[in-house]
Amino acid sequence: MDVTAQLLRVYQVDRQLAALESRLKSAERFLHEQERHLSATQGRREALQSQLRQAKASAANIEGEAEQIKAREESLREQMNAAQTNKEYKALLTEVNALKTQREKREEEALALLSTAEELQGQIEELGKQTEERTKVREIAAGERKDRAAEIKERVEQLKGEREKAAAEVPADVMAIYVELREQVEEDAMAALEIMDRKRHEYTCAACMMAIPMEQAISLLSGKLTRCPSCRCILYLTPETADKITPAQSKR
Ligand SMILES: [Zn+2]
Repeated sequence: MDVTAQLLRVYQVDRQLAALESRLKSAERFLHEQERHLSATQGRREALQSQLRQAKASAANIEGEAEQIKAREESLREQMNAAQTNKEYKALLTEVNALKTQREKREEEALALLSTAEELQGQIEELGKQTEERTKVREIAAGERKDRAAEIKERVEQLKGEREKAAAEVPADVMAIYVELREQVEEDAMAALEIMDRKRHEYTCAACMMAIPMEQAISLLSGKLTRCPSCRCILYLTPETADKITPAQSKR
């Protein structure tokens, strides 16, 4: 087996491993998304609960102020009843009316705060329901992630063993080039040579679609490590392509 074929075995196992891991990753992403949604919902609910406490406390304070004003109004009315002169009566009446206006303003404020509190209460209940639903979805997502991990565990172990064996047969310097390429371009580390026009000897790299000179296509036939001059990936021949570009006389 030539060096390109040896490396291709490693590459094919790596792609299978990457496919399995990407399924697990998508389950993980889904779980993280659910966790984010859930904590955002809980955060909003807590913020509204604190607003509700504030609204209720302010309403109670203002109601207390209105009560005090009312008490002063009543004591002034008693004084009015006991007033000796018209002038005294009128002065007290003016004061009572001013207090009444103040008190009514306070009462309106308290009512507005209570209606805000009611709205907040409704929103909090709605968010409570959402939290319950999101908690369920999060549990499902966590279960899926766990199942997915268990599902691929055995196959991943098996493939890792295969990779180790395949990699051991590849010369270290070639392996180093491959590992570096994998880190840079992932699945484009290797690419098939494609035939554009066999008679004209026009070939392209399946990764970058750029033209590959004929000499390189020929060197691939002998199994030499051949890199695409454009994207630098390591080229390989599929059995079909190899068959098509092998000179007729060497097939006999
Ligand atoms: Zn290329």
